[in-house]
Amino acid sequence: MREPVTAYIALGANLGDACATVRQAIAALGARPGIALQKASSLYRTAPMESSGPDYINAVVEVHTTLSAPDLLAQLQALELANGRERPYRNAPRTLDLDILLFGAARLESAALTVPHPRMGGRAFVLVPLAEIAPHQVSEAQLQAVQNQSIERL
Ligand code: ATP
Ligand code: MG
Ligand code: MG
Repeated sequence: MREPVTAYIALGANLGDACATVRQAIAALGARPGIALQKASSLYRTAPMESSGPDYINAVVEVHTTLSAPDLLAQLQALELANGRERPYRNAPRTLDLDILLFGAARLESAALTVPHPRMGGRAFVLVPLAEIAPHQVSEAQLQAVQNQSIERL
């Protein structure tokens, strides 16, 4: 058995009952084998960024996992599918998006998985909830860089 790794996962939804989906997904994540939920941020409402449709509901969770990063991604994708995720085009509105932000101190770059998430630094909807549960992972400068993006804590 591997040593557990601390990982951070971003959740986003803007189709259907997005609040209910995100809450249920947080619970479902912790129930997956090899994934133990440690912390969950508040839910946040954000305007679509590089995307369209209704406002997004976002959150970030901290988990301890004994899975490898690719296996964790496979679990997240199974949960997206179970929630009816479709990908008609890039950045399309979605019922549920689950992205790995950080996987311990790992730096990974493959066709299927890049960690740390390459676009997290430009996104208030990731940095603000991440800073809520893991302030040591986000600098003041990073938060300042996205302070023009509106985000409402629910
Ligand atoms: P973005 O990555 O900009 O947030 P997105 O989440 O809408 O966009 P998806 O359609 O959910 O993009 O995923 C596209 C592909 O991204 C997935 O098939 C997955 O293999 C890949 N991917 C690469 N790195 C990651 C990561 N850190 N977390 C989740 N998926 C990733
Ligand atoms: Mg995403
Ligand atoms: Mg994604």
